[in-house]
Amino acid sequence: MNPDRWIERILARHRDWQNGHGDSPHHPSLGVDENVLARALDELADRLAGSHPFFHPRYAGQMIKPPHPVAVLGYLAGMLVNSNNHALDGGPATSRLEVEAVAALAAMLGFGTHLGHLTGGGTVANLEALFVARETHPDRGIAFSTEAHYTHARMCHLLGVPAHPVPVDRNGRMDLDALRSLLATGTVGTVVATAGTPALGAVDPVHDILPLARAHGSRVHVDAAYGGFFALLARGDTPPLVDPAPWRAVASCDSVVIDPHKHGLQPYGCGAVLFADPSVARFYDHDSPYTYFTSNLPHLGETSLECSRPGAAAAALWLTLKVLPLTRDGLGEVLAAGRRAALRWSTLLRDSADLCLFQQPELDIVTYYPRCDPPTLSQIDRASASLLDEGMRDQRDPVYLSTSHIPADAFIARQLSVVTDRPRARILRSVLMKPESETYLGHLHRRVEALARALRPAPAAADPHSALDPSRSPAPPGRNLTVPPGKEAG
Ligand SMILES: *Cc1c(COP(=O)(O)O)cnc(C)c1O
Repeated sequence: MNPDRWIERILARHRDWQNGHGDSPHHPSLGVDENVLARALDELADRLAGSHPFFHPRYAGQMIKPPHPVAVLGYLAGMLVNSNNHALDGGPATSRLEVEAVAALAAMLGFGTHLGHLTGGGTVANLEALFVARETHPDRGIAFSTEAHYTHARMCHLLGVPAHPVPVDRNGRMDLDALRSLLATGTVGTVVATAGTPALGAVDPVHDILPLARAHGSRVHVDAAYGGFFALLARGDTPPLVDPAPWRAVASCDSVVIDPHKHGLQPYGCGAVLFADPSVARFYDHDSPYTYFTSNLPHLGETSLECSRPGAAAAALWLTLKVLPLTRDGLGEVLAAGRRAALRWSTLLRDSADLCLFQQPELDIVTYYPRCDPPTLSQIDRASASLLDEGMRDQRDPVYLSTSHIPADAFIARQLSVVTDRPRARILRSVLMKPESETYLGHLHRRVEALARALRPAPAAADPHSALDPSRSPAPPGRNLTVPPGKEAG
């Protein structure tokens, strides 16, 4: 697809729309010197060139990738109008696009009737869900796992609600026994289940959390900011590419947050919050005498905490879902490629002489670390940080990864043979959210292996071949990585 052609079309349609309103005067104050503009544009391009190549599969670090060209087209078309989805007065057309796009997200997650809207991102979306949680359970706190996004603790602080961190099990999921004990104290009004934790991509057992919480009269909010679109992989395939149980249970929860600017191919500035019970609208009740005036229909701003919001974000998501619908064969195929890449990489890492798999990926986030001898956390930490640096510094064939801090007991819980000489260590983390990662995986793995090999001390002079022949290199104690029993291979 050639976006240039479609950009022309959008600009032409926009001009037609403007011309339909008759001549409009130009003001000299908005004129610019085009020589100045040309130089400034060049400077901007130079400055932007200092970005990491997020578009390329050699960037296998954080949850960042460019939007799909179709989303750019939708955003451009919407941005030229620059409507404001706060109210029907500011965004009569784009508010309707938002309602339709949000209904599609709700349907994907199994929410029938719902109340929901787009937000600036997952943080604000979660803030809204926790705000409603506080209003429905005013005297009780909010529980979330220690692997939940850091903003939950922050938002509890902001809302003045007690926060209850719940430990995780050996897979990085909320520990059910710990949750059960906590619920028994009667202090928890809402449990936040994370479907796709930021560091490991672990999926809390929503299907087990839900009945436990219900038994104690607690609400369940699902933070699926990262993982929400994996619901598309929970159905259809035999066997499905992700465990369907948690995704099925999302439909019975009270609220859910999903970020179209992560796996929905959208530019930044697009999160979403959904509530199963539309009557929670009452908690948002406010008066805005100067923004709601041309319609008695509900304005999106009446049930959101933000005021101004880009109608363009709704236009972009709406257009994207028209051409890449929320089906297994539509957007699902984009997620499936990253998921398959993560599964294949985990197999390669298990067999690697240079790298160790930290845990079996549940989504498309892979965690691993360089093999070290001796395998102390100090060495693992140092080697991971060096590998990250060396990978980015390489001029010819760079690779961009990310790191995550892992506490010592998390290595022990996974039965990894490490010497815990410090409380925590950095390990490497790759989010394979671009479908191109599937094609590129072999190369990525070889590059990361080579970087790990280069970190190890030079071979002794007496045995010049040992570093070249992996079968002859001494096996460190962590060589035979133990997989926690009962953990299926995805
Ligand atoms: C990304 C993320 C958030 C925060 O969302 P932003 O869009 O960055 O504001 C919250 N929770 C989870 C699980 C996330 O992955």
